[in-house]
Amino acid sequence: MDYDILILGGGIIGCAVAYELSKYNFNIALIERDYDIADDISFVNTSIVYDGSETSDDIMAGLEYIGNYIMEETCEKFNVPFKKIGALRVVNDDNGVKKLEEMYERAKRRGINGVYLIDDNDAYDIEPNIKHNIKKGLYSENIGIVAPYDLAIAYAEVAADNGAIFRLEEEVLNIQSLTKGFRVTTNRNKFTCKVVINTIPHEIYIRENGKVEDKELKGEGSKFKNMSYLLVDDNYKNKFNKIVIETFDKDTFVLSTPTTTTGSLIGIKSTERTSLSDNLEYANQLLEDLEKSNINNLFRESYNKDSMLIDESEIDKGYIRVTGTHYGKITIAPAIAKMLCDTIANNLNCTLKKNFIDKRREVYKFRELSKKEANEIIALDKRYGKIICVCNNISEGEIVDCIRRPLGARTVEGIKRRTGSGFGNCHGSYCYDKIVNILARELDKKVTEIVDDSKNSKIISSRIKEFDDV
Ligand SMILES: Cc1cc2nc3c(=O)[nH]c(=O)nc-3n(C[C@H](O)[C@H](O)[C@H](O)COP(=O)(O)OP(=O)(O)OC[C@H]3O[C@@H](n4cnc5c(N)ncnc54)[C@H](O)[C@@H]3O)c2cc1C
Repeated sequence: MDYDILILGGGIIGCAVAYELSKYNFNIALIERDYDIADDISFVNTSIVYDGSETSDDIMAGLEYIGNYIMEETCEKFNVPFKKIGALRVVNDDNGVKKLEEMYERAKRRGINGVYLIDDNDAYDIEPNIKHNIKKGLYSENIGIVAPYDLAIAYAEVAADNGAIFRLEEEVLNIQSLTKGFRVTTNRNKFTCKVVINTIPHEIYIRENGKVEDKELKGEGSKFKNMSYLLVDDNYKNKFNKIVIETFDKDTFVLSTPTTTTGSLIGIKSTERTSLSDNLEYANQLLEDLEKSNINNLFRESYNKDSMLIDESEIDKGYIRVTGTHYGKITIAPAIAKMLCDTIANNLNCTLKKNFIDKRREVYKFRELSKKEANEIIALDKRYGKIICVCNNISEGEIVDCIRRPLGARTVEGIKRRTGSGFGNCHGSYCYDKIVNILARELDKKVTEIVDDSKNSKIISSRIKEFDDV
């Protein structure tokens, strides 16, 4: 067999699974079709780590609760931004009050501590900037925010340092069941393995009877992009410190959350496609004086509500499938990974690695260092003293480091996501070409070979002939 275990798909779930499995004496590889892992984590991600109190689905609640607990420990260990800031859910009518009371009872029944049903005055004490028009609130001190891409990269880096192989730019075409194990065919190779963990959204498993199912779970919201997000400037004076959600009816709510860096994100869920003015109108039912000038950007995304499917029905053969779309998929990723890994380790009777290193190589974030610390690092490597992204204060040292690390960035988007460069007010107009040049130099490529995020996204198409001798 080429591998004991093949993980298909390098999203946050695939990376978390690779990390958990790399603790054991398995020979594992992860196959991802893109240039980078976790490429599908949306740039506009509310990044909320739920606690199992908001969902009516008991299985999802259990996964969220465990995921929340593991996430806190993992982020602390790998130095990934995670803030347990608490979430306040508010309503302004009797129907809403009834729903909050049900949620509270459910949380109590599930044994989730730290959830409180509160009156309007307590809600204003927790978040003084909320508009004073609410009837009741439900406050959970367990809910927080995380930097999801950083978490996925951290999982993958530690897994790679502990021997997991990452096969990027390799697309899985099909999975075939053999008498013993599986054959996984990609656009480049054929591999055999004992166990397949498939996190790819489309079914590509050919069963012994030759049947291929090609279904993808789609949420009710995936019919059209019915969630709008407003990226709010850090200078907006009435911003909230907590995550605040105001529910108007079963299909409409406004959500405000601080980001792990600067500014905040406001999400508006409705059944109709809303314009910027509609969104501001909704948002101003919760916030005070939010204006067009406070908005840096507007995005639309699908809102996915359906459950995850963790299909272990063929575990005895060695096939597990994790699929589905869910608004809390980041939250539940650590719980799913742990659960799958425990099952597989038991089934294959495997032992833990004695030399497993549960540590991520240090990342220096220049903008978070004191002057003294920054000077010490610049003395060691002068590239940390050269600022490439002036909006977010990101140095050449950080960019070079993120290229040279295990699973280093190979695209401009990979650098932006890992370092935060290009996300400032100038939207990359100052640093973009500098990043392209650094990538070309570090990867020993021509600038014309550098891509934005995928094969078909070359940035510079060709040299101008007249300059060939220059
Ligand atoms: C706007 C928005 C806000 C969100 N907010 C939150 C939040 O607040 N809290 C929360 O917990 N979650 C949130 N989520 C959910 C979360 O970000 C995503 O659902 C999650 O990142 C998806 O991760 P995944 O690993 O399951 O799936 P994916 O990222 O879809 O992973 C699948 C991977 O498989 C790869 N792949 C596909 N086909 C093939 C193939 N044939 N061969 C090889 N590789 C293949 C893909 O390239 C991809 O990398 C939000 C999502 C969105 C869109």
